[in-house]
Parts: sequence; structure tokens; C-alpha cells
Amino acid sequence: MPTVGRSSTAVYYHPLFLEHDTGLHPESPERLVVIAEALRASDLSLEWRLPEPADLSAIERIHSPGYVDRVRQIAASGGGALDLDTAISPRSFDAAVLAAGAGVQAVDAALDEGQQAFLLVRPPGHHATPARGMGFCLFNSIAIAAAHALEVRGLERVLVVDWDVHHGNGTQDAFYGDKRVLFLSMHQQYHFPGTGWPEEVGSGEASGYTANYTLPGGAGDGAARLFIEELVVPLARAYRPQLVLVSAGYDSESGDRLGGLSLSRAAFGWMSRRLHLLAREGTAAGPIFFLEGGYMPSMMARSVLATLGALEREPEGFMGMPDDPERAFLEEILSALRPYWPGTLK
Ligand SMILES: [Zn+2]
Repeated sequence: MPTVGRSSTAVYYHPLFLEHDTGLHPESPERLVVIAEALRASDLSLEWRLPEPADLSAIERIHSPGYVDRVRQIAASGGGALDLDTAISPRSFDAAVLAAGAGVQAVDAALDEGQQAFLLVRPPGHHATPARGMGFCLFNSIAIAAAHALEVRGLERVLVVDWDVHHGNGTQDAFYGDKRVLFLSMHQQYHFPGTGWPEEVGSGEASGYTANYTLPGGAGDGAARLFIEELVVPLARAYRPQLVLVSAGYDSESGDRLGGLSLSRAAFGWMSRRLHLLAREGTAAGPIFFLEGGYMPSMMARSVLATLGALEREPEGFMGMPDDPERAFLEEILSALRPYWPGTLK
């Protein structure tokens, strides 16, 4: 296990991700093009890496073979719609397999080289459940990466933090009964996909290993501060993760066309820095950031820069003063979790 990480960040990117053709759709290839241009023009210390496709066996640690084959067949037959939101084009299966492969590679590089990473990939993944894709997602890359870490690399504790505006229902489903993954999500309530309530805390011996901080529309940086300082940090210090993975969605930023939260750009830098320090303090590998949502390309490019810049130096400009509703909704999740984490949460 690396104790000192590299100072550079690997960026996993491939032109094939642009060939996942969704038509007239907010989850567009332009998102990656604009972010990649911004990263190339930056002075950040980045190492660009071309991902390799995941083995089907790696994908089938999470998804049923029948579902994987269905996506392959729809793509091979010229494409179609998995559901009203989720398009499959002729190259979508290959793009999704490549996105999953990027996660597997990034986990290996994190464990073997101490390499932190950002996955500039599409389609996104966190809504894809073991049985089916949904919400623009085909294969759940972050869940596949976590399963690789557990089943192939022998890890016992993986932390997954999800700051996308939507609940990461697919990731939650994949590990709901498995305490080798601690899944912590903040998201807007009464929003797609409708899951992710405080009472959803995991099942059986994994009770207490899923945490959902649901937020009313308009909640912003104060909630981000509470999420990290009152939930993520104390739970992670008690859990002692060996690897930190992040579902980095930028649709939680103020002004996103599909989200109703109000995070500032500075919040992404601040959260990134806190997770980076958390990993270092506990000698965990990572963080590895998986691009999920975010539908304003220029805006999200600046926020990805903030995320990665914070891995190199302490960012400035984050205020994050919590208001009463943000505190009240935090108390709901803390009271649901306290029985499982005695003495850990305020
Ligand atoms: Zn989202």
C-alpha cells in the first residue's frame, strides 16, 4: 500500500468516448471535449493515459450477463433506446466497456503506484444497477472498479463518495448488503431516480454502511461542508478505507440545467482537497474521480479544474456556511446512522 502518493494526476481519456452518440441530449460528447481542452490548456501536473477495455468478467462482477449481452446486442444491431433517457448507439457498448476499463486500470495504478486519477469518461455509470442501466448510464464504472479492488486486489474496505446532484442508486444497490464498501451520497431530494432516503442505511451486516444526505433544492456550500466534516470524515476515520473513489458529478453546481442544488465551483475544490487529505492521512489509495453528471460544459470544465487543482495545493474561496435546513436534513441522516456507529458521529 503506498504511503506517499505521486504529485501528478492521471487523466484517463479516449476519443472513443465521443462516439457514444446520444443524439440531441444533455449528456453530450461536447462535455468531454470542452473539459479536455481546459485540462490541456491548464498548468496542472497531469499524465494522460489511454484506457483499455474492461474484461467482461470485470463488468459481470456487478452486472448480470444477460443485461451486459442486451447492451451489446442493441449496439450491434445499430442502436436504440434502453429507456426514455438512455440511448445506445452502435459504439456505445465499446465506449461503456472502455469507461469501465479505465476504472479498473486506475484502481491498479492507485494501488501499485500511488497514482490519483480523474476519469474523463462517458457514458456515466452511477445509476446503472446490477440488473439494468438507466439515467444515461450503461455500466456502473465506479462499482466495477470497487468490485475489482475487492475481488481481484483483495481489499476489504473501499470508500465511495458521491456528490452528483442525483442519488447513486446503482452503486448503492450493488453494495447494499456488503460492508466492504462504505457508500456516502449527498443529493437533491424528490429528484431522479427518487431513491436515496436517510432510512436507506444498508442491509444485514452492512447496516450503517450506506448513508444518504438528502437536500432540498437550493442547498449549497453549507451542505457540502456538513457532508464532508460531519459525515464523511468521521465515518472514514472509523472505517479506515484502503481506497477512496468519488462519483464526481457536476450537476450539483449552481446553474446546472438538470440540477437544483447550488454548490459553487469552490466547493468542488474544497471537497476534493478534503478527500485527498483524508486518503493521505489514512494511507488510503486514491482519490480516483469518476465523471458522472454535469450538463453545462464550460461551467463544469472550470469545476473539474478546481477539483484537480486542489490535489496540488490548498484551494481558496470556499465559505460554506450551513443554514438551518441544511443542518436539519443532516440531523436526519446522523440520527439514522448513530446506532451503527456508536461514538463516531456528533
Ligand atoms: Zn447526476
